[in-house]
Amino acid sequence: MIYPDTKLFIDGRWRPASGGATLPVFNPATGVEIGRVACASREDLDAALAAAQRGFEIWRDMLPIVRGKIMRQVAVLLRERAADIARLLTQEQGKPLAEAKAEIMAAADIIEWFADEGSRVYGRLVPSRRDHSIRQMVVRDPLGPVAAFTPWNFPINQLVLKLGPALAAGCSVIAKAAEETPAAPAALIAAFADAGLPAGVLGLVYGNPGEISSYLIVHPVIRKVTFTGSTGVGKQLAALAGAHMKRVTMELGGHAPVIVCEDADLDLAVKSTGFAKFRNAGQVCIAPTRFLVHDSVVQPFSEALSRYASGLIVGNGLEPQSEMGPLANPRRLEAMAEFVDDAQRQGGQLLAGGERLGTTGNFWAPTVLAEVPLSAKVFNEEPFGPIASIRSFKNLNDAIAEANRLPFGLAGYGFTESLKNADLLSRKVEVGMMWLNMPASTSPELPFGGIKDSGYGSEGGAEALEAYLNVRSIVVRNH
Ligand code: NAD
Repeated sequence: MIYPDTKLFIDGRWRPASGGATLPVFNPATGVEIGRVACASREDLDAALAAAQRGFEIWRDMLPIVRGKIMRQVAVLLRERAADIARLLTQEQGKPLAEAKAEIMAAADIIEWFADEGSRVYGRLVPSRRDHSIRQMVVRDPLGPVAAFTPWNFPINQLVLKLGPALAAGCSVIAKAAEETPAAPAALIAAFADAGLPAGVLGLVYGNPGEISSYLIVHPVIRKVTFTGSTGVGKQLAALAGAHMKRVTMELGGHAPVIVCEDADLDLAVKSTGFAKFRNAGQVCIAPTRFLVHDSVVQPFSEALSRYASGLIVGNGLEPQSEMGPLANPRRLEAMAEFVDDAQRQGGQLLAGGERLGTTGNFWAPTVLAEVPLSAKVFNEEPFGPIASIRSFKNLNDAIAEANRLPFGLAGYGFTESLKNADLLSRKVEVGMMWLNMPASTSPELPFGGIKDSGYGSEGGAEALEAYLNVRSIVVRNH
């Protein structure tokens, strides 16, 4: 299957790194090197910065409706190319083809929604308190070139959540996507170029993440930093951005609580959370991770979730029957082994999985752990993999307190047939996104983002555009 080497995209052209450096790209299902990705030098970054400044000056002066037309064409191209891009995505990231295709189709929807929303960036007129001849205007302008850093778990979607609002607002962007999954983001950028995006408006670079982020964030051309990834790295980048007075959006790790009440529809709870848990092999920031289940139903729930996990077909994402692919990199395999060993050492019971599958590729069996003590690593650190950890509770307020115990606050789930419990859960669980009686369901028009250590700012809805706008007042005396 064809998998291309990935070049840098700077000033409207694909080019190798000026120093010729490259990194290998591996297929996580086979462990085989499938291609190389160019690593940007300082010279390349300077070229990308200069292009982003020129691109910004062109793009911000184009009418929002014209920008929207180009963005809508990107959505058309992505839908046409979805099957081909999905094959790149699966080869470099591992997820089943159907999930890869769904990611690309969702990306097209997001771009289309922001293409329209860009025409609705309004200002306002504020009556003067002094004189009718004074016109007081509030305007919202694009804030300038953006540096965007995105991870490997949703290589297309995480990038689109930044490009959609940034470009709709009139900003230019230098994206640094993940070196582990470079070809799918490159195919996305190619769709923008083919749709007629002017040179310089969008750049794509790869290389050493720490070196690139520390150079771009402090550079005077960059006016805004947006990052998706782990809380640890996010805090470092936010601190650097803060020291240089750059606007910031941070979409960081979570550790999503799932509260299953005694009156829950258990079939619905198992089906919904089973799907949300093992999708993308659990490498999803909003995946359910801490299952808090009422004492009276914990046994049937645990058994049913274990049956669901054991029944999943794990295999190479390119094979149509595969329901769960490999982990994206060998680091995650080591992390899974440590989570499971630690939980068992502390008295947790292994109900399903708990081991690596085979010796080729990064396959890990869908895992369910029960009676996991609160001190276990898996109940405190984001597992970011296919592990469901279950604990029982007697009183709903205790479950809510446990849900809020950790510093994270990204996603939360609740299952109950009671209006009173649903109201309590929606008000008291400290998360940016809460789903009741359903799996996670995101849409472009809804805010997407966390609170507490899960970050700040939103990557969906009208709020996402605000993150790329300056608000200014202009006062004019007419005569
Ligand atoms: P990591 O923290 O090393 O890297 C996460 C991402 O940040 C990667 O894409 C990496 O290239 C990038 N990165 C790392 N250091 C950087 C820097 N100094 N500047 C700019 N970018 C940098 O972790 P990992 O082993 O790749 O992934 C595991 C952890 O990352 C998980 O535990 C999870 O919390 C987090 N993660 C979160 C998301 C998300 O959607 N929020 C996505 C991927 C990974």
